Amino acid sequence: MLITVILLFLIPIGINSLFDNTLDKSIVLNANGTLDNKSNQAAINTPENAPERDEKKLAIITFDDGKKGQITNAKPILDGYNYTATFAIICNNVSKSDELNWNDIVQLEKEGYDIGSHSMNHIKLEDVPNNVSEYEISESKECLLDNGVKEVRVFTYPKNGGSDDPFILKEVSKHYDLARTGNDPLEFLQCQIGSSYTMMNKISCSSLGNDINKDGRYSIIGWSHDADREAKGYDDSQMLQKFIQVVESQNKYNKGNEIRSIPVLIYHDIDKESGFYTTSIELFKAEMKYLHDNDFIVIRLLDLI
Ligand SMILES: [Zn+2]
Repeated sequence: MLITVILLFLIPIGINSLFDNTLDKSIVLNANGTLDNKSNQAAINTPENAPERDEKKLAIITFDDGKKGQITNAKPILDGYNYTATFAIICNNVSKSDELNWNDIVQLEKEGYDIGSHSMNHIKLEDVPNNVSEYEISESKECLLDNGVKEVRVFTYPKNGGSDDPFILKEVSKHYDLARTGNDPLEFLQCQIGSSYTMMNKISCSSLGNDINKDGRYSIIGWSHDADREAKGYDDSQMLQKFIQVVESQNKYNKGNEIRSIPVLIYHDIDKESGFYTTSIELFKAEMKYLHDNDFIVIRLLDLI
């Protein structure tokens, strides 16, 4: 309630003001966006500082399309909070202008981020013949492995389409352990999370067995941050409000250690200004700070299984 009141008061001033007014001054972002104060960085996620509360709030962060800004602009912010994320790559777009190159992708994996496949060419899988969708799904994994990625277990559907098609779903299940589609604010599932802080990222989800069905592990629903902005024409201040609404909407479903819903966030490029499928650095920073300041537990997509 207090947060809502504060936000309503601050939003007309714009998100830069919100950021300035609420930023913990002891944690300073340097020009590269990394945290200067390492003792504070270490303090962020230690058990001593963990909040004691019954209700758990979780979030999963994913990036589609392999855009350059994901490593230059988003990664330093994620690193600052020790947040994990999955980066899903379009294999035939690697190294094009504004795209991640193979060194970037291998570096992300070395630093502990998950690398997933987002197909070979980003075509709508349900609109092409089966042999083409089969190629897009299977070959993109091989392509990542051939170029130095050690492990590829996640697939994200291009344009969030195809998981309703039994052939596509089956093909994805042959090559991957989990797949994400979209587009809804929350993924509904049945999970239990550990109660002690050190166990908090240990989650087991009974609803995500090996079954290949439309509600299973091969059709995890994500929320496309950028599609919502495109559809509604939000500016950054409005988008921050929408983000808060989405990530807080899990509260009415989760009770204690029983997790029934999780927002799975989908980002694309992160750059100086928000634009077509691009989130501004300031907005992304404000959103990650919101998760941190409000005790969200950020887990990997793969932690669900
Ligand atoms: Zn995409």
